Amino acid sequence: MKIDIITLFPKYFTGPLGQSMMRKAAESGAVDFNVHDLRKWGIGKRRTVDGIPYGGGAGMVMRPEPLFKAFTELQSPGMHRIYLTPQGKRFEQPDAERLAKHKHLILLAGHYEGIDNRVRERHIDEELSIGDYVLTGGELPALMVIDALVRHVPGVLGDERSGKEETFSEALNGGLEYPHYTRPEIFKDPQTKRELKVPDVLLTGHHADIEKWRKEQSGKVTKIRRPDLG
Ligand code: SAM
Repeated sequence: MKIDIITLFPKYFTGPLGQSMMRKAAESGAVDFNVHDLRKWGIGKRRTVDGIPYGGGAGMVMRPEPLFKAFTELQSPGMHRIYLTPQGKRFEQPDAERLAKHKHLILLAGHYEGIDNRVRERHIDEELSIGDYVLTGGELPALMVIDALVRHVPGVLGDERSGKEETFSEALNGGLEYPHYTRPEIFKDPQTKRELKVPDVLLTGHHADIEKWRKEQSGKVTKIRRPDLG
């Protein structure tokens, strides 16, 4: 899968895309990330990308010419173009799974007051919001969408089950994931000196029983923490 990102602040992406799962996804060839500085399509010597809003008002607006050029240069037959905006549809787990199936995504991170509306009408297939609050720019929202969807690109997660059986997944009826435990089997709370034990069933090695316990626990925690999902 190819992911193009159009931004005024390319350095935002260096850290997150160069670490952990994103880095592995890129190194394995599963995802090809390309971060584009919109100024490369900027107007004139000064590489201008913004202008004052017609009709007056506070702030600047991202001009159409650099964005039309960017989308024209990056386009491909199977592309899907996303504008991150607080006005978009709320981004949810099924969107991450759906978007992971595309061959080529182009994400546009806005800034200032946003983008000239003609870009939205002509070059955007989908608008996504990460929540009902207004951020300074679309860089963090773009990274959040990318992180969530890349986990569903085949070959990115080491164990394919981790993406299938987790919070919000179909395997858990859209509910929350069951609790996890790791070594040691018995842990002594340094303050209370109480022995905290891993649930017995997880030590039995009996897969069917473990599966049953996990489903039950998933149902329980969902009811308590997110009754709206139940
Ligand atoms: N004037 C716009 C409005 O009232 O709808 C807000 C512009 S915001 C300051 C600048 C940019 O940040 C937007 O163009 C968008 O790309 C990004 N942004 C801000 N909040 C966002 C959110 N909740 N989800 C996705 N993108 C967001």
